[in-house]
Amino acid sequence: MKIDVLTLFPEMFVALDSSLIGKAKAKGLFQMNCHNIRDYSLDKHKSCDDTPFGGGAGMVMTPQPIHDCILAVDPERKAKRIYMSPRGKRLDQQLVKQLAQEENLLFLCGHYEGVDQRVLDLDIDMELSIGDYVLSGGELPAMVVIDSILRYVPNVLGNKQSTEEESFSSNLLEYPHYTRPQEFLGLTVPEVLVSGNHAKIEAWRKQQSLEITKKNRPDLLEE
Ligand code: SAM
Repeated sequence: MKIDVLTLFPEMFVALDSSLIGKAKAKGLFQMNCHNIRDYSLDKHKSCDDTPFGGGAGMVMTPQPIHDCILAVDPERKAKRIYMSPRGKRLDQQLVKQLAQEENLLFLCGHYEGVDQRVLDLDIDMELSIGDYVLSGGELPAMVVIDSILRYVPNVLGNKQSTEEESFSSNLLEYPHYTRPQEFLGLTVPEVLVSGNHAKIEAWRKQQSLEITKKNRPDLLEE
């Protein structure tokens, strides 16, 4: 998988150099390049924003640097081009799985009040939101999407079962986990988990998943 990110703040993406995703990148399991939109500005001050037509609060990202950056990065329009935006389609695990099938992804990160509509009309395939709240920029949302997608790229996770059994994989939230020690501050691990009876363990986990989903996210059960 090849990922291109268009941003005014490429330095923020060091967050993806750590942990599982950092290791996968170092092993070459995916390719990610961050492009500074400002480098493409033809303005003599390298400006990338201006006041909105029609008035109103804040600034708007100008179309020229973004359009030229997209053309330079994806000249043959091979990538699925995504603009991170609170008004976009809301990300969920099903959409994560779909996006993980793409070979080329391009993420445009907005700032200020957002991006001039014309560049979205010309160059963008979909708008994507990570939830019903507003952040100050598209960088953290893009990183959330990239991290969730890369978990489906072969060999990024040590164990393929991790994505098969975790929350949302079957519209249920995950069951509780326990590890050593068997007793901690007077609290013991549920007996069934040390019984060695795999059928019983599976039934207990399923029951826990159902109860947790019913309590925290009844909407998932309705679905
Ligand atoms: N004026 C915009 C609105 O009301 O929809 C909000 C702009 S926000 C302050 C700046 C940028 O942050 C957006 O262009 C987008 O790239 C990103 N952003 C903020 N919240 C987001 C969310 N929930 N999901 C995805 N991107 C988001």
